[in-house]
Amino acid sequence: MEGLLFVLSGPSGVGKNTVLKKVLAKRTDLTYSISATTRPPRGQEVDGVDYYFLSKEQFWAECQNNGFLEWAEIYGHYYGTPKKQVLALIQKGQHVILDVDIQGAAQIRQNYANAVLIFLHPPSITELTRRLRERKTEDEDAIKKRLAYLEKELAAVTSYDYVVVNDQLEEACRRVEAIINAEEVKVTRGYWKRFLNP
Ligand code: ADP
Ligand code: 5GP
Repeated sequence: MEGLLFVLSGPSGVGKNTVLKKVLAKRTDLTYSISATTRPPRGQEVDGVDYYFLSKEQFWAECQNNGFLEWAEIYGHYYGTPKKQVLALIQKGQHVILDVDIQGAAQIRQNYANAVLIFLHPPSITELTRRLRERKTEDEDAIKKRLAYLEKELAAVTSYDYVVVNDQLEEACRRVEAIINAEEVKVTRGYWKRFLNP
């Protein structure tokens, strides 16, 4: 059976990376898709681990090559999901999870109808701003750019299959895992139904 494609979106600083790290540590059947970006590395980020850091020219060459499953411009930089590795993993039966913004999620929805879209929601805007500032990875200007995108992001929530509020971290992780389990049950049931009643 093919693996499932999951998308996790949410405003910058809501905790997508934090939640993903915890969920991925528990599930060997789930792989994180490393995106390509033209944004410079920040903090301790490592090329090939957190992102593939590309020049604009390299990114565009990959775009022309039809090498991205989806791509978007966010906060003045380009971000894209490498297509080949994601499709190969899914074909091998591995679930894949993407951390993409609302534009990327819309493209995935359009091209991969079976993808499962999860939106990670902040408990409040005050708490989101606090997390973003406390992370200390962006200057005030970059933080403002990220918060300016918030309204559009929150308006897109209705296009997602699931909304998880990241208030208590452990609870949010449990909910994301529960979604993965529920979606697995759905496809397995469908597979056996088709197998037994062709
Ligand atoms: P994102 O990937 O969505 O931009 P991060 O995972 O980098 O966000 O998290 C932003 C900051 O918020 C980090 O400092 C992280 O430790 C903190 N954080 C994440 N989830 C929670 C939570 N449930 N409660 C408190 N702080 C959190
Ligand atoms: P950051 O710069 O904080 O790592 O990411 C900024 C935004 O880019 C986040 O909303 C994140 O979800 C989004 N993002 C990361 N990788 C991709 C990608 O491959 N495609 C798209 N569309 N968005 C991405």
